[in-house]
Amino acid sequence: MLNIVLFGPPGAGKGTQSENIIEKFNLTHLSTGDLFRKHLGEGTDLGKLAQKYMDDGNLVPDSVVIDMVKDKIASTSGAKGFIFDGFPRTVPQAEALDTMLKEFDSDISGMIALDVPDDELRTRLLERGKTSGRADDQNVDKINNRIQVYKDETIPVAEFYEKQGKFNKIHGVGSIEGIFGEISTVIEKL
Ligand code: ADP
Repeated sequence: MLNIVLFGPPGAGKGTQSENIIEKFNLTHLSTGDLFRKHLGEGTDLGKLAQKYMDDGNLVPDSVVIDMVKDKIASTSGAKGFIFDGFPRTVPQAEALDTMLKEFDSDISGMIALDVPDDELRTRLLERGKTSGRADDQNVDKINNRIQVYKDETIPVAEFYEKQGKFNKIHGVGSIEGIFGEISTVIEKL
């Protein structure tokens, strides 16, 4: 399996680049943000539980996220590999992911980290908020909180993969095609 963690702060372009990656490399997209929004839209118990955290730009508790990802992996048969988008966001999530993949005799092939300055992130998220309908994109305080949560809780995940020799950084400002070209070069070497 080719399993990739697409990593970066909110607004870095993970969703956009995931679409390009799954098409070119024939991988299965697993975005925890998308899964939560689906639950929210369907009004499930999980969606109701996640809503408060998401609206405030805080992380949903690890156990909830991990169980949801386990279910998703278990219900996806015949995947050539996964692109993990927005997951893992904490070190316990990264450890749990390693354990899950071991059950399939697999592991993470590599992490790709999109590097984008904070000011650019704020501009992109506020712009997206005009059309996305996402409460967490429409308020500067919430956006700043998400960026801070990323620094406090998610950056250590990069170190987790760096220790395993799986960390690849890509500058995430420029044309979507140009950035995708760099991502492709990294993936082809994995
Ligand atoms: P973004 O990367 O733009 O902040 P996502 O769509 O990935 O947005 O996630 C939206 C929200 O969903 C997060 O702010 C958080 O509340 C929740 N969420 C998504 N993935 C995770 C995760 N792996 N762990 C905890 N919470 C998560």
